[in-house]
Amino acid sequence: MATPLSVHLPFNRDCIGDAFVPAKSGQKPSEAHGHWLLVQDQRLVVVADGDRLRLPTGEPPAGFDGVLGEPFWLGTLAGTECWVVSLPRETPLPNGFHAETMVPMQGTRLPDELLSLGGMAMQALWWESTSGHCPRCGEATERLAGEWGKRCPRCRYEHYPHLHPAVIVLVTDGDRCLLARKAGWAPGRYALVAGFVDNGESLEGCVAREVKEEVGVDVTDIRYVGSQNWPFPSQLMVGFEATYAGGDIRLDPEELEDARWFPRGALPSLPSRHSISRFIIDQYAR
Ligand SMILES: [Zn+2]
Repeated sequence: MATPLSVHLPFNRDCIGDAFVPAKSGQKPSEAHGHWLLVQDQRLVVVADGDRLRLPTGEPPAGFDGVLGEPFWLGTLAGTECWVVSLPRETPLPNGFHAETMVPMQGTRLPDELLSLGGMAMQALWWESTSGHCPRCGEATERLAGEWGKRCPRCRYEHYPHLHPAVIVLVTDGDRCLLARKAGWAPGRYALVAGFVDNGESLEGCVAREVKEEVGVDVTDIRYVGSQNWPFPSQLMVGFEATYAGGDIRLDPEELEDARWFPRGALPSLPSRHSISRFIIDQYAR
């Protein structure tokens, strides 16, 4: 299997390509004008334009009197500034606006470009909401020039947006592959084993450990397939395929409801095309 140079999945900035320039450096525009990324919980406020969903664009959107806080400058999309505002969960929306979920498993209808922009907006808000004070001494932090990072003026501690690496892996054994499901997923839906990287662990070490802990089997020949930024709230999913090396399926009941082998030609209900999980399965099954 050839390894792709980049994976064009939603939430990866590759979806937008060079059109987006992050606002890490450069002068913040004096007037907030451009594309508006209004984030309400895990939903993005959009306007229906025929069949197309698009961002409100231009002056600050009208009808949100008193609820739009200070807009956060995210960057520039094809020359147009992008502004992020967090909306309280219960705020009713004016006519013509609609809050669309960004969560693939809730059946998002947003195009990939808006999911990638919206994901960056959610991560920016998450970072702003968690980085305002020094985690070491509690002093209010200051933004580092030209960076997303923050510095504490008292103890000089610096920190940058926290991305949490997690592995996600398809275990294969010739023409069969091992898929798992968690309780609470759509009936009959199966996907991949996944888990967070631990202190001191390599990605490959994490793959072997998570597979052993969750489904009880051993793997070998661990191959990188691709990765996906996952803004719920801040993961980097690193995708692998691994070859079965022995052992019987033994579930971790805390993590999984079921896991079993499926023939390559008879796969069950799978996650939507938005996820790296589905991408890895499709690479194997095609
Ligand atoms: Zn400090």
